[in-house]
Amino acid sequence: MSVMPIRLFGDPVLREPARPVESFDEALRLLAEHMIQTMHEAPGVGLAAPQVGRSLRLIVFDLQDEAGPRVLANPVLRDEWGEQVEEEGCLSIPGLYYPVSRAMRVWAEGFDLEGSQVTIEAEELLARVLQHEVDHLDGVLFFDRMRSFESLTFLEEYGRYWVKD
Ligand SMILES: [Zn+2]
Repeated sequence: MSVMPIRLFGDPVLREPARPVESFDEALRLLAEHMIQTMHEAPGVGLAAPQVGRSLRLIVFDLQDEAGPRVLANPVLRDEWGEQVEEEGCLSIPGLYYPVSRAMRVWAEGFDLEGSQVTIEAEELLARVLQHEVDHLDGVLFFDRMRSFESLTFLEEYGRYWVKD
């Protein structure tokens, strides 16, 4: 296994809608393994394939609980319910954390690495991670989800942040 470079904001791959996974083969299994390694090394709780430069509908996530690292290909969220507002960050936008409104509970449907259908009921942090990672597959970044008044503050701090480098 190896760690892949994480693409940072400004890389066009992060804004492209990702292609569906069509082949559940060895290459996909290897990509998922490398993504899990990259996520652990970062460290982070979730990673989407576009973040390692692969425009594919594949996400990995790991809340460091008994479920261990998990993979979902072609994930679709349904039955979103409730609301939670928590600070969120993104490995592709290091150093920035902002409160984002997300559904409190979602059902995620997708496929495992063998191509078998998987359904996950997710609440709280897991629901937030899944919504964040599935957004990546549509080229959406977490600050796109901010309320407009938060975006104004964000733009101000964001400008400062990028001037620093
Ligand atoms: Zn992210």
